[in-house]
Amino acid sequence: MGTIGDARQRSGISRWNLVRDQCLVAGKWCSSATGETALVHDPFTGFLIGSVPMLSRGEVDQAVHAAALALPAWSNEPARHRGRILRRWADLIEANREDLARLITLENGKPLAEARGEVDYGLGFVEFYAEEAGRILGEVLPPNQPGRRLCVEREPVGVCAAITPWNFPVAMLTRKLAPALAAGCTVIAKPAMETPLSAFALAMLAEEAGVPPGVINVVTGDPRMIGEVFTGSMTVRKLSFTGSTPIGAMLAAASAATMKRLSLELGGNAPLLIFDDADLDTALDTAMAAKFRNGGQSCIAANRIYVQDGIHDRFVAGFSARVAGLKFGDGFVPETDIGPLIREAAVEKVVSHFDDAVAKGARLVAGSRPQPGRLASPALLVDAPHDILLSAEETFGPLAVVMRFRTIDKGLALANDTPFGLAAYVCSESRATIALATRALETGMVGVNTGLISTAAAPFGGVKLSGLGREGSRHGLDEYLNFKYLCEAGF
Ligand code: NAP
Repeated sequence: MGTIGDARQRSGISRWNLVRDQCLVAGKWCSSATGETALVHDPFTGFLIGSVPMLSRGEVDQAVHAAALALPAWSNEPARHRGRILRRWADLIEANREDLARLITLENGKPLAEARGEVDYGLGFVEFYAEEAGRILGEVLPPNQPGRRLCVEREPVGVCAAITPWNFPVAMLTRKLAPALAAGCTVIAKPAMETPLSAFALAMLAEEAGVPPGVINVVTGDPRMIGEVFTGSMTVRKLSFTGSTPIGAMLAAASAATMKRLSLELGGNAPLLIFDDADLDTALDTAMAAKFRNGGQSCIAANRIYVQDGIHDRFVAGFSARVAGLKFGDGFVPETDIGPLIREAAVEKVVSHFDDAVAKGARLVAGSRPQPGRLASPALLVDAPHDILLSAEETFGPLAVVMRFRTIDKGLALANDTPFGLAAYVCSESRATIALATRALETGMVGVNTGLISTAAAPFGGVKLSGLGREGSRHGLDEYLNFKYLCEAGF
């Protein structure tokens, strides 16, 4: 097995001191007192990249305490000052863009070009909320009696916990940290154990930008134990979680007794609807971007591709050619379109969806059935019935499955036949079709003639089992603010 030195050389990271192997608590980088660690591996080579602390319950409690101690001073900073610190953090992220991107590719495996795109996307949240910090406004209300003044102030929610997944290790964290800090909250963040190093690097840059000790704390360890500390604590007033629906539901239930604010960005099973009146090239571009970005390991990946009868065969011909041209392998090789999946079990899930669809009548028209390991070959199946495993659960891999539909109503009914409601995509050149479809789709987001919808200025989030709340946009800032109504008599 390769060493950390091998990983360092392979990654080409120039500022290796960004790659930390300690947690950040109260402004101090620390290991666990027990010395216990968890190993982090490069998913492509299996090389060891680093080892991160397995903090004890008491040590996670200390991080919560540190965030509480830092809260009064941080929340009392003038908002524009908090914004200036965020701006400096954004500048440092930009200055270290290449190293951060290389670190993402090293621990997550995604192609370097996509990792650079993720850093830009993640940076967008810090820039956006640096500006929004100074625009947290209250209200003055019409008084209900003479001599009264009624107003509404906005206050930071307080100490917040953030739990993030491995698929966008930088962007999922800045999407939470930046609005929290802009609002005046302090945070304890728990990144995914497969990709904790990007989180440590971001925290180090935040420190350099002048974020005071205790305002951002980053902890790693047993996820169940950390979840219990967060959900059980009265000090933690909000939990923001991005990850799978079962874990999100469990955390929501566990947060009930302490009545926390919750933001839950959970799983999806996005439909892509290609109607007869779609432009073929636009439909192909949309399908490629929506399905294969990050190797399909995205909550808004187009998992179910519904194509109307009249365009079906032309679409399948074009899609097959594009899927056949995809290169999968090492994310550091510039030609690679699809990197390794995060773990072998992820490939096994793709294979199970492949086999299930084929057993129910689907035909392979491009690519191949993935082999065991971490590299999943892209594949395109057509003529699949709706009643396949993939319709019920996210594939999270580079398997595209096309299902045919006849009428617009039928296509929309199939698209909505899921308990998830994160994103959907529509391809059509008809304003009437677009209006009908976008109204009917039961999702928080709809991409029309594009597979790339994420941006810091837009409210990202879902309905149904895809979660609660929104991230990004001014609505994402509201998630970290409470209302305080003041009723003053005697004027
Ligand atoms: P996951 O298993 O739910 O893990 C997500 C995070 O939760 C990780 O940090 C994980 O820690 C932690 N975790 C696991 N068990 C926990 C527990 N019992 N208590 C507290 N925390 C716990 O999800 P995943 O498979 O890594 O991520 C993929 C999922 O995230 C997909 O369903 C995807 O759709 C969803 N996602 C949603 C969005 C969105 O914005 N809606 C964005 C990205 C991803 P460990 O790593 O230590 O296990």
